[in-house]
Amino acid sequence: MIAVTLKEVSKKFDQVIGVDNVNIRIQPGEFFTFLGPSGCGKTTTLRMIAGFYYPSSGRILFGEQDMTFVPPNKRNTGMVFQNYALFPHMTVFENVAFGLKVRKLSKPEIQKRVERALEQVRLPGMGSRRIDQLSGGQQQRVALARALVIEPGILLLDEPLSNLDAKLREETRSEIKRLQLELGITTIYVTHDQAEAMAMSDRIMVMEGGRIQQIGTPIEIYNRPANRFVASFIGETNLLEGVVEEVSDQEITVRVGGELRLVGLKSNVNPHVNLALGEKVVLSIRPEAFHDGVGQKENVIQGTVILSEFTGVSVNYLVQSGDHSLRAMFINTGTDIRSRGEKISLAVAKDSIFVVD
Ligand code: ATP
Repeated sequence: MIAVTLKEVSKKFDQVIGVDNVNIRIQPGEFFTFLGPSGCGKTTTLRMIAGFYYPSSGRILFGEQDMTFVPPNKRNTGMVFQNYALFPHMTVFENVAFGLKVRKLSKPEIQKRVERALEQVRLPGMGSRRIDQLSGGQQQRVALARALVIEPGILLLDEPLSNLDAKLREETRSEIKRLQLELGITTIYVTHDQAEAMAMSDRIMVMEGGRIQQIGTPIEIYNRPANRFVASFIGETNLLEGVVEEVSDQEITVRVGGELRLVGLKSNVNPHVNLALGEKVVLSIRPEAFHDGVGQKENVIQGTVILSEFTGVSVNYLVQSGDHSLRAMFINTGTDIRSRGEKISLAVAKDSIFVVD
């Protein structure tokens, strides 16, 4: 198990800054995900760790060893690419054995290791099949076996599930996670899919514009988004602009339009936010943080149902309240489902309001 450290790593392509001053320390054995929209710099960061790109500045360490300018084949990393990059005319065995032949291992050793890798990815006995005779999901497993067979210290996965259909993607996601836990291998995973990142990762680095927006566990990222971008990129959220009206020891009151005031906890305010009276702030409230506000006095928003979607597990509402369009998700209890045009009151607990900006 190897730690991976990036120190002030940047990558410039002519005029474009692909990655801007990234600092991370990935723990030995950790499942660490780079998450962000297209063009945010996640693949470029992964490629610098793999050695396909060298940084324009900064250093990359594996353990204590400086790897910044070490070529890819000398890094002890196994990589799975989005398109798998398998040799279509060769057999499964030949594909998986490729890296071992390059490393000039003996024939019996190659045989043993390839068989073990195919067992690990649950493709035992498939060695003689040709790649073009396999399904997409099976090809994905061969790519994973090929990365693992060299017994790398670090496994790098670049959107490995994006070519699979939804059901297979979920199955394969669990498989990869199981294998990673079994092998205890330090794993760096790139995806733009927040659900995938949340389900698999020990920690996530959210990126945008080449920069780190937040690093944290899935729970931290979801429940305590560092800023507006993270709050809206991870899951759904309501962002409400308001003005700080009162600040006490524990609480803050924000006027979010008209007479509507919301009271939150100071412990849910991001440290960089200025809480001076009259300051403009942005609140984040998740749809599932709302509940029925009938009979409640504090933190209740009155509105009208614009859309009502019944999903079985929940009822999802789009609610208009003054200038605000809000999304609310109520767990389906089988009663009192509101339809379009009906009045609704949404209540939110103080500890479910986050001041993100
Ligand atoms: P995607 O999910 O679409 O692959 P990404 O988050 O992985 O996106 P990167 O591929 O890392 O993003 O790209 C980051 C930025 O660097 C983008 O603006 C991209 O256009 C630019 N970039 C990446 N590779 C190159 C290159 N070889 N030459 C020039 N610009 C590049």
